[in-house]
Amino acid sequence: MEGSSNLVRDEMLQIVGDLKRHLSLQMPEMPWCKGSQEEAETGEGTVPPETGNALEHAETLEEVRAILGDCTRCRLHEKRQKIVFGQGNPRARLMFVGEGPGADEDRKGLAFVGKAGQLLTRIIAAIGLTREEVYIANIVKCRPPGNRDPREDEIRECIPFLKAQIRVIQPRIICTLGAPASKTLLNTTAPISRLRGRFHELEGIQVMPTYHPAYLLRNPEQKRPVWEDMQKVQALYRE
Ligand code: SF4
Repeated sequence: MEGSSNLVRDEMLQIVGDLKRHLSLQMPEMPWCKGSQEEAETGEGTVPPETGNALEHAETLEEVRAILGDCTRCRLHEKRQKIVFGQGNPRARLMFVGEGPGADEDRKGLAFVGKAGQLLTRIIAAIGLTREEVYIANIVKCRPPGNRDPREDEIRECIPFLKAQIRVIQPRIICTLGAPASKTLLNTTAPISRLRGRFHELEGIQVMPTYHPAYLLRNPEQKRPVWEDMQKVQALYRE
């Protein structure tokens, strides 16, 4: 009797395991498609199938930009001046991803052009590259008010566009700048201090999390670990 109940339990566990595997294959691995049960039921916070479909078939950054349009998909559109799509080499082997535009970026519509951006330019130069050789973008494309971190629902709306950019560019390396970008792309809650310093694989791309240049401006003593991270990026870039 005990044997047959064990058999039934094992079968149930097998079915549950199969079901979980089936569902996980249907769910993109990155957190941008995670939503609450309520959101899943109401459809709020999810990319409409036609947008997702168009993004999947986009072959150029121009096509991704056209699909983004004059985006009002999340509340960040209300106070933005310009959408900051991202810029650089459309065939870059190295991408930098920050969390969101600041005031200067919002005004100019370009990523990383304020003081933190100037520091990023120097970091890029230190590894023997120029801004034109890499691609620079953010997790969200409109400025969060007061430079707060982007919220989960805002990230969820915006990140399919970054994902499409990454798919089109096909970089070998992504350097995530700061905790929000690193945690979002790597789908983890681990602190940036534990994530940085080593590569993490993301769908065949090597991801190096490091501190955000704005953080370095406030904490110059952290330039040393960032330099160590960037040397690893440089070595892999040259391979
Ligand atoms: S942050 Fe992204 S999703 Fe939100 S309005 Fe701007 S472009 Fe659209």
